[in-house]
Amino acid sequence: MLRKEEVTFRKRTRASAARYREARKRTPWGVHSNYRLVDPYPVYVKKASGSRIWDADANEYIDFQMAFGALVSGHSHPELVRAVGEQIKRGTIYGFEWEGTAKLANLICRRFGLNRVKFSTTGLEATMHAVRLARAYTSREKILKFEGCYHGSHDALLVGVKPSKDKAGSASAPNQVPASLGIPDEVIRNTLVAPFNELEAVRSIVERNGDELAGIILEPIPMNMGFVPPKKGFLSGLLRLCREHGMVLIFDEVKTCGKFYNGAAGVFGVQPDLMVLGKAIAGGYPLSVLGGRAEIMEAIVPGKVAHAGTFNSNPVCMTAGIVTLTKVLTANAMDHAASLGETLARGYRDIIGDTGLEARVQWKGLSGTVHFTDGEVANWRDFLRCNIGRWWAYYIMMLNRGIIPMATGPDEQWTVSVQHTKEDISRHLEVFEEVAKQLREKQPPMALVEAL
Ligand code: PMP
Repeated sequence: MLRKEEVTFRKRTRASAARYREARKRTPWGVHSNYRLVDPYPVYVKKASGSRIWDADANEYIDFQMAFGALVSGHSHPELVRAVGEQIKRGTIYGFEWEGTAKLANLICRRFGLNRVKFSTTGLEATMHAVRLARAYTSREKILKFEGCYHGSHDALLVGVKPSKDKAGSASAPNQVPASLGIPDEVIRNTLVAPFNELEAVRSIVERNGDELAGIILEPIPMNMGFVPPKKGFLSGLLRLCREHGMVLIFDEVKTCGKFYNGAAGVFGVQPDLMVLGKAIAGGYPLSVLGGRAEIMEAIVPGKVAHAGTFNSNPVCMTAGIVTLTKVLTANAMDHAASLGETLARGYRDIIGDTGLEARVQWKGLSGTVHFTDGEVANWRDFLRCNIGRWWAYYIMMLNRGIIPMATGPDEQWTVSVQHTKEDISRHLEVFEEVAKQLREKQPPMALVEAL
């Protein structure tokens, strides 16, 4: 079955194959973010609008990847096109602060319960700044993160991201497995790894490392191992631990800030010391935010604690941020997207129930995922039990039928944007029903994935 699907995919995407060959001449693996590489080659895109995207062969897809969650606004939202277009005529970057930046700082502080913010461009930068600030503020060097959480491609947090079963070690005290070659041992040693949703295991790691730990960083809903809601009391338990041990609690809300009106901190009622925002916050324009309590943030003192960037707070991204928060990701628009997300997730759950497919939907609001496993996925070790081959089969079958069902990878999730419609959801479910029946009949081989 999969062979047939792969042949169909190759026939439909000949121009993408050609673009890939061309790209590889100048670019290792033909992509500029490793996560975009898929087997047999990535789809190359020509254009997008609203909930739709068209590839280089002019195939049309309903897009639920939404740029790995950066586009809760959907593609080219008319409000953004207008306002950003106007701003570009007045200049794109000044090398001075823009007069309108404080307005965005205010909007973000009010919406996410922050006292102070500093802007940068990518999620990577903001989590890097967060770690440095926590270290500077506490005068401690170690940082604790969770297995399966991703915080951007920088050394300090490229540890315990997606370790294989054979390297991961003990479930309660995971090994510090680097996610890349080239990271110095000393950096790896300073990044401790804990299992998500296991408060007692976190406590014992913290107690063993006591006064050396600067802080704990986590995705409050990990969205780099699918979609993993925190257990009741887990987030507040971490906050308590941080208070007891003088550590800084950092929520990486790069993904979650666009998925809930007040972010995950708002959903769960736990306010961290520092928060990092990114992706959807400026409607698909590059903006990241480090924010938090005044006392900690004010430790960013020029000459003492670094924070800089040529493109930081450029007027184009600032304008996009203001428009996104005031006119695009409004409470009403997000409620609407969340209700479509509920319909999608419940539809998946029903189809899985009806077909008897071994799979499980985990979701909240406008985002969620399907894990091909029979049990709950509460942490990385549970995720490792998922049938990854089956996910890739599902993905390519959905693509062949005009649906990009979620972001690329079994560790990702769908994003329903404010521009999706009821009809988009119905079509997605229709296609999933057809695909689920076929998946139920045949167990796809693991080989497709192992080749990646
Ligand atoms: N944090 C989280 C939770 C993310 O999911 C990502 C990217 N997927 C990042 C940080 C890094 O953001 P960026 O790719 O903008 O550097």
